[in-house]
Amino acid sequence: MKKHLRFILKGLIIFIAVFLAVWKISSSKSFQFFGGITHRVDTDERVVALTFDDGPTEKTEEILALLERLEVKGTFFLTGRELERNMEEAKKIVSAGHELGNHTFAHKRMVFRTPSFMRREIDLTDALIREAGYEGEIHFRPPYAKKLFLLPYILKKKNKKTIMWDLEPDSDLSVSAEEIVNDVVENVSKR
Ligand SMILES: [Zn+2]
Repeated sequence: MKKHLRFILKGLIIFIAVFLAVWKISSSKSFQFFGGITHRVDTDERVVALTFDDGPTEKTEEILALLERLEVKGTFFLTGRELERNMEEAKKIVSAGHELGNHTFAHKRMVFRTPSFMRREIDLTDALIREAGYEGEIHFRPPYAKKLFLLPYILKKKNKKTIMWDLEPDSDLSVSAEEIVNDVVENVSKR
């Protein structure tokens, strides 16, 4: 009986260790099991690719005005849910010449889900991005960086690139704009 218990305990510890390892891998910015994943690109110039996630919202216009003033283009990874609510904002992003990307429909972690759920999340959002008038290639960014086997496999089948990031300033509402700027400026130069 005791031996039995020790065996079960050992099994449990191994299970937890494997689970934690897999969970960590599932959030990796630079590795996935299938298809291309990009978290940074080496260039000769010192440039930064700006990406904005989770919109469009009623704040989108403010960002667009700022980008226009600074003559900067960015990539907006939008959710289908927000696209449905704020289609006019999405159209403005397109007409301003920015890139649109797919950030799923409902912004759920795309692990431990069925293939049909994942496909629906991607396809619905792609359709809404097209409805906004965007004609370019639609890349994909997984919510919370989460992906394991199935999502990368489905994306590969759909010829979609996974675009991650290598610098993520804390954009919590309690953080001031100045703190965000300082965080970015300090860290971007180190990479
Ligand atoms: Zn997001």
